[in-house]
Amino acid sequence: MAYTVNKNDRLTVSVEDLTHDGAGVAKVEGYPLFIPNVLPGEEVEVQVTKTNKKYGFAKLIDVKKASPDRIEPPCPVFWDCGGCQLQHLSYEGQLVQKRKTVRDVMDRIGKLPHVPVHPVKGMDNPWRYRNKSQIPFSERNGKTIAGFYETRTHDIVDTDQCIIQTEEADALMATIKHKLHELGLHAYDEVKHRGMLRHLVVRKARATGEVMVVLVTRTKNLAQKEAIIDVVKTVVPDVTSIMLNVNSKKTNVIFGEETILLYGKPVIVDKIGDTQFEISARSFYQINPEQTEVLYGQALEYAQLTGDETVIDAYCGIGTISLFLAKQAKEVYGVEIVPQAIEDAKRNAELNHIENAYFEAGPAEVVIPNWYKSGKKFDVLVVDPPRKGCDEQLLNTILTHKPGRIVYVSCNPATLARDLRILEDGGYRTEEVQPVDMFPHSSHVECVAWLRKI
Ligand code: SAH
Repeated sequence: MAYTVNKNDRLTVSVEDLTHDGAGVAKVEGYPLFIPNVLPGEEVEVQVTKTNKKYGFAKLIDVKKASPDRIEPPCPVFWDCGGCQLQHLSYEGQLVQKRKTVRDVMDRIGKLPHVPVHPVKGMDNPWRYRNKSQIPFSERNGKTIAGFYETRTHDIVDTDQCIIQTEEADALMATIKHKLHELGLHAYDEVKHRGMLRHLVVRKARATGEVMVVLVTRTKNLAQKEAIIDVVKTVVPDVTSIMLNVNSKKTNVIFGEETILLYGKPVIVDKIGDTQFEISARSFYQINPEQTEVLYGQALEYAQLTGDETVIDAYCGIGTISLFLAKQAKEVYGVEIVPQAIEDAKRNAELNHIENAYFEAGPAEVVIPNWYKSGKKFDVLVVDPPRKGCDEQLLNTILTHKPGRIVYVSCNPATLARDLRILEDGGYRTEEVQPVDMFPHSSHVECVAWLRKI
């Protein structure tokens, strides 16, 4: 009789692969076990933590035979914190693994074995890259804690340092945490809905060095306002902006509706290439600016603009790609579902004196057909959809009107592969896929692909 895997079983298994979220996969007589913190090629002793009919989960007890790519994670809380998944894998190893993830879905989901997947463009120094930190605060046993959540929980892993965020975020996180009591303030208690400070949000504009600090509090009546401003100014003497955001709801959502200026300016300014962007407390903005430039540079190269093209930027956010492309195109039309982001896009176009970029708020699958109906013609279509990929209706519109060239920016290789297959079946050919490492040490990988009408 075949062996059945049960909860709490201790087993020694061989790790075959990594899933897209960074867990190892091992099979026990065909039954897959998912195991965090292990690597392909390793032999490990594990304990089963949960079983379902078709698969189970296990935790690492001991590494019997280590992968040559295994390293000691530089972060002391890596094993507990849910922020990173791959610090135990050398950075070179991470890039190889991410390329393999993309190759696998291109073959398995996209049935696209002919499409070249290039080596991942990584960072020279893959640390301290995050320009935004959203740090939850809480109290545990009468002590203030701050850090990031354990995987799939709301338990904060208390830490004074996170080596993928900026030095300023580290210093503010530690100092405010240790001074909170002194200031007569309590961190927010999620269960009792009491206490004051919920989150500390720190944003830094890489190109200009400007820093914004947002204190997210439960009520507007923050006592010791001046004292807190002084603490922030001591830690970051040339801070550009200190904001208060009020979130009085019992919710996981970080920001509330009301944002008040406490000190300095309400925005910071950053640059991607030579395009400037104004960032406010709640604006969406790419979180790894150095690699964003690599990503957009690749999108621009694949768009092959000569200055005569009319381009669509679908899922445009605050218009970052649109404005980046506008200088090389005749016209760019951006569409995005969040009206506030479209406001930001229009303001950023003005800020950069860009007059050939137009923006419209609404679902891409509705707005783009309307543009075509009104008689507009487009040469190049850029899409950068959320994880679920392009809307089916949008893909149908593309296949009806057939722009000559498509540049597909994707944060999810699986839905990218699915959509490329649909476009191939409809008369396009995928020429290249270039993965870019936007989030070192996490399991995510971003890709840019380009397709030609055949
Ligand atoms: N291109 C931007 C943002 C990409 S993120 C950048 O590089 O910064 C994906 C964006 O798609 C988000 O801003 C999200 O609000 C938007 N979105 C989600 N569904 C949409 C839809 N149906 N139509 C248009 N935009 C949508």
